[in-house]
Amino acid sequence: MRRKRPRRRRKTIEAGETLFFGTLASGSSGNAILAGNRNRGFLIDAGLPAARLLENLQRTGVGPEQLEGIFVTHEHGDHIRGVGALARKLGLPVYATAGIWEIMEAEVGLLPAAQRVVVAAESFALAGLSLTLIHTSHDSVESYGLLARAEGLTLGVATDTGVVTPDMEEKLRDCDALVIEANHDSDMLRRGRYPWHLKKRIAGERGHLSNAQTGEALQRWIGENTQKVVLAHLSEENNTPALALKTVVEMLRSHEVRQKCGRLKIRVAPRHEPHELIVLGEERRSYDDLQRERAGRGAAVR
Ligand SMILES: [Zn+2]
Ligand SMILES: [Zn+2]
Repeated sequence: MRRKRPRRRRKTIEAGETLFFGTLASGSSGNAILAGNRNRGFLIDAGLPAARLLENLQRTGVGPEQLEGIFVTHEHGDHIRGVGALARKLGLPVYATAGIWEIMEAEVGLLPAAQRVVVAAESFALAGLSLTLIHTSHDSVESYGLLARAEGLTLGVATDTGVVTPDMEEKLRDCDALVIEANHDSDMLRRGRYPWHLKKRIAGERGHLSNAQTGEALQRWIGENTQKVVLAHLSEENNTPALALKTVVEMLRSHEVRQKCGRLKIRVAPRHEPHELIVLGEERRSYDDLQRERAGRGAAVR
């Protein structure tokens, strides 16, 4: 007779905590953001192989059984690479607009009808959060950011956009937390080795935001409620984490924005690793902390 496996520890995020998020990977090599409320979570994009996504998820301390869906921002490979495999493996519904489904269908492969959820331009509920799409400007069939709300807290997410759109301007002000693209340094891009057409695409209105564009937008968006900003989707070729952070922080400092919000913390999303899990309204807890806690409780730590 087969011995019963010991039950997996169900959750690390305990009831009583609230809106949480963290990037699982960020950049043109693959994007995924974990977000959720209390002990329920979902993914914004799944642009890495499913095995890598699960590995990075595990490092955050959130279990795969806590995931309730995948929202797809747009159909580029660095955002959908693992969608099909992960959805099939975990039985997750995939949330995407009809326009994006049309293009990504072939890539994602066969999914049961119940797993193919089309979201319209109105708010919908997922993982204990109220989600609203934000129009971005990108060279895909459609592209969106996301506003996630729960219990009076708001997380705004926007990457893969060549300009700050009016919808971003309207929705991303004074969020409690922001995950926002700081893709490239304009000088590095201009002087870099990319061919001209690619430089034009990246810097164009349907490309990606530069560090300075993001810094400028944050001058307007950061308000009294803003606690955390994560700079995301950095170019490996035309940016460095230190430069993105320096550019944005200097722009905010010169604008005296930081005075408006003393507890503001700005971080850069790692390219291949999961970012520390941020729980809003609490001091941040890194995944190392979470793993230490798990070890303390006797759970297996890889
Ligand atoms: Zn992308
Ligand atoms: Zn893209």
